[in-house]
Amino acid sequence: MVDLNEFVKSIGDRPVYVVGLGKSGMASVRALVKAGANVLAWDDDQDAHAAAKRAKAKVESPEMVDFAQLSYVVLAPGIPLTHPTPHPVVTKAQTYDVPVIGDLELLHLSNHGIKTIGITGTNGKSTTTALIGHVLQKCGVKAAVGGNIGNAVLSMKLPESTEAIVLEMSSFQIDLCPSFRPDIGVLLNVTPDHIDRHGSLDRYAEIKASIFDADNIAIISVDDELCQNIIHRLEHDQHKIIRLSTEEKVDFGVFAEERMLVDATIEEGNDNVGSFNLLPALSGVHNHQNAIAAYAVARQFDLGPEQIFEAMKSFPGLPHRQQIVRTINGVAYINDSKATNADSTSKALATYRNLYWIVGGRAKDGGLDGLEEYMERIRYAYLIGEAAEEFSSWLEKRGVTYHFSKTMERAVVDAHEQAQADKGQPGGTGCVLLSPACASFDQYQNFEERGDRFISLVEELKE
Ligand code: ADP
Repeated sequence: MVDLNEFVKSIGDRPVYVVGLGKSGMASVRALVKAGANVLAWDDDQDAHAAAKRAKAKVESPEMVDFAQLSYVVLAPGIPLTHPTPHPVVTKAQTYDVPVIGDLELLHLSNHGIKTIGITGTNGKSTTTALIGHVLQKCGVKAAVGGNIGNAVLSMKLPESTEAIVLEMSSFQIDLCPSFRPDIGVLLNVTPDHIDRHGSLDRYAEIKASIFDADNIAIISVDDELCQNIIHRLEHDQHKIIRLSTEEKVDFGVFAEERMLVDATIEEGNDNVGSFNLLPALSGVHNHQNAIAAYAVARQFDLGPEQIFEAMKSFPGLPHRQQIVRTINGVAYINDSKATNADSTSKALATYRNLYWIVGGRAKDGGLDGLEEYMERIRYAYLIGEAAEEFSSWLEKRGVTYHFSKTMERAVVDAHEQAQADKGQPGGTGCVLLSPACASFDQYQNFEERGDRFISLVEELKE
């Protein structure tokens, strides 16, 4: 657990109000209580109160709290800060000039003195974060990993010998970091997502860009326009920038060319570091982007190109991201539950053909737009969740055959029966793919639960 003693000394007796008691909120409560802070806690869901009481926080509703006395409000990233409308706690905190922060800012305020790496982007954050952690650890750098993936930031173990903290930073978390800027910032890509929570695409890009300040190292992809705009701005401020591309050569940076990872930061000229064919857990161009980003970060630690590439080879990949669950009679069953928007689904659709595609959930702005070019790869679509109606008309316009399966249970059976019946016919042996292009919240707690359900249904299927 992160030591918050210094932070607590700095606020004296003034209470901290932790609002939103999920995994990260409860980790904040525990770390604050342990450091001797006066902790008030709240969650609109009453079921969460017992855990806070057990952790020795005082549960108080916003109406009971004296905001004039508070030092900070620590907000869970799932609670609206600005859009669609700020949570009443936020409005009240602003009235009383109380800073509203998240757990990453708390980590920063703990004054740990360890080098930080922050990874953001619309897609690829978790994979890249895990990959950087893996590579650094394999190369003997003592690295801790935290953020969205599994571990709440404040429950990370940070022994004194820790040399680097690798942090996944969603736009919601960045929004709750008024002063924290990682020593090395990575921006993978910016495409429309979560616009409902940030107001506009420009503001969303603005938040992503705010992980950079005058002093940190900026590792940024040049492959999309919004990232390019950010680079132009940083260049203007003489920022140290390392560029990434999977599409073109870059002058000072790391790029992918003909399935090779090329390091153009090496002074004697470009260096072909290794072939992506040797990194099976990182297949697909999107994963090449993650790999070059991780490579560029590792190079900041005085590690040699071969050593880094060798370490990447043993990366096992993460569950729920194009994870092959099972193969039945040559038909692959793939769990890509983490694809919660059209852009990330496009990566799976670009990787496979002859698809029996399970799609739907709670639609994002723009729905399936952007996936038009992959529709020739779909043999059948199986619609689930709230988005079914909307997606059916979209698919109909593109001539794709679809079924209203409604539930995951039905969709897996429908897709399985069809895929198995078609095998042996020309183009028949394909893949059953769950890649929903939607949030999971209409039917599941989160994408992990959705993916786990898919896995258990696939495991139950008869050959
Ligand atoms: P995040 O943490 O940003 O949501 P993940 O690493 O969990 O990203 O991957 C989420 C989804 O996005 C997966 O379905 C994966 O196939 C796809 N994806 C992974 N990396 C990238 C990338 N660099 N660009 C676009 N899509 C990606």
